[in-house]
Amino acid sequence: MNHLKNKTNLGFFPTPVEFLPRISAKLQQNIYIKRDDQTGLATGGNKTRKLEYLVKNALDLGANALITIGGQQSNHCRQTAAAAAKVGLQCYLILRGEKPENFQGNLLLDKILGANLIFAGDKDLFQEIKLLSQNLKNEGVNAYEITMGGSDEVGCLGYVNAVQELKNQEIELSFEFDEIYFSTSSGGTQAGLVLGKRMFDLKAQIIGVSNDKSNMDGLPLDEYILNVVKKAQKNLLFEENILISEIQILKEYNEAGYGVVTENELFAIKELAQTEGIILDPVYTARAFWGMLDSLKNIKKQGKKNILFWHTGGQSANFSYHSIF
Ligand SMILES: *Cc1c(COP(=O)(O)O)cnc(C)c1O
Repeated sequence: MNHLKNKTNLGFFPTPVEFLPRISAKLQQNIYIKRDDQTGLATGGNKTRKLEYLVKNALDLGANALITIGGQQSNHCRQTAAAAAKVGLQCYLILRGEKPENFQGNLLLDKILGANLIFAGDKDLFQEIKLLSQNLKNEGVNAYEITMGGSDEVGCLGYVNAVQELKNQEIELSFEFDEIYFSTSSGGTQAGLVLGKRMFDLKAQIIGVSNDKSNMDGLPLDEYILNVVKKAQKNLLFEENILISEIQILKEYNEAGYGVVTENELFAIKELAQTEGIILDPVYTARAFWGMLDSLKNIKKQGKKNILFWHTGGQSANFSYHSIF
């Protein structure tokens, strides 16, 4: 069985690859952007690709509900709520913190999409999902658990498949990218890109810009990602040896912590918006775009390269950060 074909259609693919002429002129590099902020699922984002595989797996297992965890402005939770609605499953979201007075951004969309919202305070989300899943089972609800960010061996297939999509776009463009920058957090996107690079002979260096403290479920992020890659390899019967050194993570831009917008992120958002008319999000892509701009200062002397910024979405979170602009 070809696992890469075993998915439910939830979005609009392929997403466009766009040239950024004004940013390119400023940086003296050829900069392109892959628009996974336009995947179409309730304002889109990178989780749509993962959910195509996760939701298929849930349906194959006879689940009647999806359950997942995240922060209150989680883009993953919002896309999970939309995916559940689209295929007729119930949705339970366990969110960090206390119930706020006003619902904004992604949280507002979760409510509109009809998800059951559980506010977990400061309890451990990985434990809470197990507890709720068991309680639901006792009530006769067969809930399919999706881990943080959908970053497991099933979800990451979305980005293995995305590499194949990009390879076809490179044929149309008649060149190959040298470097790909993107925001990495729970690691599923990077796991898929790293595995896809090997499976489909992508030339580009895969560079994740770390968004937060760089660990996931108790492991350093690169180890977590390699574990996900190895499990996915087993399912795909792809036996090449992938090394931890292939998981490249820039950690120097995350010191402010998760969800904190510094002048760097603010600069990145305004720079792309006011130069190309494209909106980043305040939590993930702003930090990654800043990280890319800063890194490119160092490669200037090596001549022009073809660089891809992979936009992973999240714009709706801006509305909950309105006071910083
Ligand atoms: C979840 C998310 C990421 C990080 O992707 P991971 O697969 O969790 O590493 C990046 N950008 C946005 C907008 C996201 O919602």
